[in-house]
Amino acid sequence: MHSRVVSNRVLQDYFEALACGPQPESPYRTWHLIASYAELRYHLNGGARCPVCRAHVRHVVSVTVKRQNDSTQQYGCLCQRCLQAEQATAKSVVLKLGAASWEVAKKKPLPRIARSNGRAS
Ligand SMILES: [Zn+2]
Repeated sequence: MHSRVVSNRVLQDYFEALACGPQPESPYRTWHLIASYAELRYHLNGGARCPVCRAHVRHVVSVTVKRQNDSTQQYGCLCQRCLQAEQATAKSVVLKLGAASWEVAKKKPLPRIARSNGRAS
C-alpha cells in the first residue's frame, strides 16, 4: 500500500469543504471537524505550548475570548485548564481553525476527544 504526503493546505481545504457542506449545521458537527483537524495537525506537526502556563497543548486551535467588559483577547492556543478558566469568567470563548469556528457554551464541558495514543494534552 502506498502512502502519499498530503500538504497541510490540501487538508485544510478538505476540512473547510466539510465544514461548509450541505448538511444542516450542528454545533457538535463543527466541534468534531475542528477536533479531527486539530488531531490530524498534531500528528503532522506536533503540539505547542500554552502561552499562559507553558503546558503542552496537543490540539493547537486559536481561541478568542470576549471578556465581560467587551474587550477581546486572542490566543494561538490554550491548554484545557486555561481554556476552562477563560470559559468560567468570559462572556464568550470561540475556538477557530481555518473557516470553522465553535463557540464554547457556558457551563458545558467540552466533548471528549478520542485520542489514538492516550497521551494527555
Ligand atoms: Zn495553560
